[in-house]
Amino acid sequence: MWAFMAHWETGSGRVNDVKGFSDACLKHGVMGICDAVSSLGVGDFNIDDYPGIVAWASCPQKGVLSLPLTYAPVSFTDKAIEMVKKRGCRTYVHHPILDARHWGIVDGKDVDAPGYHQTHSCYAVAAFHEALRIILGYGRARKASDYKYHEAALRQAVEAMGCEVTSDMPSLVVLNLPGKLAGKEKELVQGARAQGFGIWPTLSEPVQVRIGILNQLSPEQITEIVSRFADAMLAMGAEFDKAQVMNQLKSYYAKAA
Ligand SMILES: *Cc1c(COP(=O)(O)O)cnc(C)c1O
Repeated sequence: MWAFMAHWETGSGRVNDVKGFSDACLKHGVMGICDAVSSLGVGDFNIDDYPGIVAWASCPQKGVLSLPLTYAPVSFTDKAIEMVKKRGCRTYVHHPILDARHWGIVDGKDVDAPGYHQTHSCYAVAAFHEALRIILGYGRARKASDYKYHEAALRQAVEAMGCEVTSDMPSLVVLNLPGKLAGKEKELVQGARAQGFGIWPTLSEPVQVRIGILNQLSPEQITEIVSRFADAMLAMGAEFDKAQVMNQLKSYYAKAA
């Protein structure tokens, strides 16, 4: 009855074929659900182009300017709504934070007028809308191409350090360390994190290193990430010329400018 897929799979840094998924859902007559948590606000796509998918779920804390986690944007087709109506679902009208009674709008009308002035829930919704407006002002296509541009810079730099990149995601680089450091991924990540440099290991074996660039779309920020990663690798005995890596990055950005 249902099929589920993550659009951009952040664990491994792979972008899944959402059109293939949608087509398969139509072919087999099932309702598709898609996790767009790490693609909303990063990739350039229209959910209406994938009619096999009846429900989309995302979040505000990633590509939507990393807002604090409060309300999660979702979208349902009428078919999915009919199913939820039939089966029922939880409501959050009395939840102390979500407090849905204060902002729910059904058929263009407020669900309930608030009994007293309470700021959190309605302001969180306003902040979410403001973040979407900022993204639209930046330009959705522009944002998507900026991610690709900066991801390519980071990818090139870690490859110059001898790493092998296995991801194809514009907001994240997943890599294997070069031969000499192979097997020390966890150790390297822990060391980097202890220095306040937030990179991650992959969640599954064999462990790889993940470096995210969400919302860090400037040459200065990518340069800082590359420099810190180079230091972490060198501290563990990697052999490459950091100055050469940094110069190569500089000329990548100079060429584009
Ligand atoms: C981050 C992420 C989630 C879960 O987000 P939380 O941090 O647990 O709220 C789910 N799916 C994908 C694809 C993600 O990248």
